[in-house]
Amino acid sequence: MPELPEVEVVRQGLEPLLARRRIVGVATSGLPLRQPVPLKKLRLLAHEAVVTAVARRGKFLMLPLDNGALILLHLGMTGKLYPALPTTPPRKHDHLVLALDDGSEIRFNDCRRFGLVAAYDRFEAAAPPPLTGLGPEPLDEKSFSAAYLLERCRGRKTPIKNLLMDNGVVVGIGNIYANETLFAARVSPWAPAGTLGRTRIASIVTAAREILRRAIAAGGTTIADFANAAGESGYFQVQLAVYGRHGRPCPRCGTTIERRPQAGRTSFYCRRCQPACRQLP
Ligand code: ZN
Repeated sequence: MPELPEVEVVRQGLEPLLARRRIVGVATSGLPLRQPVPLKKLRLLAHEAVVTAVARRGKFLMLPLDNGALILLHLGMTGKLYPALPTTPPRKHDHLVLALDDGSEIRFNDCRRFGLVAAYDRFEAAAPPPLTGLGPEPLDEKSFSAAYLLERCRGRKTPIKNLLMDNGVVVGIGNIYANETLFAARVSPWAPAGTLGRTRIASIVTAAREILRRAIAAGGTTIADFANAAGESGYFQVQLAVYGRHGRPCPRCGTTIERRPQAGRTSFYCRRCQPACRQLP
């Protein structure tokens, strides 16, 4: 499943192809994704409109249009965006085609159809429902600060990992990056959020940002069915310290990395480097 760094890499790849281009045609497969693709509304709002930018909020890609409308895309589990020419044969599972004024096309391909394509007019665009209640961007130093996270953790018994993966607290930190962040910050995934002091919280904030930045710079993490905006598999593999490395030595101390279920996902940790994990049975 694409996580924030992968979506950011797609955004960066898409921007030069799509920003300042006029949309001259919209077509869909007619099959619903997570919810039906609003073809009529898309045609009404996007036809002859210029895409002013390719932005991102959490794992949503945002295409603001010069008429104030907004197209929102989410890659879901297997969504990919790829550039094509009208003569390029369609691929199986292409669900949206945006034809552009330079004669090119951007196609949204999604075999498992958990993705999202939504359109909002200039009034709705101010507060699109999928974006309401989202916490700050982890890469934004002003909004995602140690003071902010400390405040959100205060009095909470929830394990810190669950809190980090809560989109209302901070967006776009999925299971991979939550595991990596807590290892880097030497904090147990099960530590009750409210018991962590300012120093630990500050390490978590710094580690999260650093790991996400590194992954973006490396072109995203190639784990699942991820493809960058050019439609190729992401080819840079970021070095993961603990995620998926159970049974192998900790890169810091050599102790065997362990794993166990936590809130329906798998947590990977080093008993020695993340001290509170020592008490786990
Ligand atoms: Zn270790």
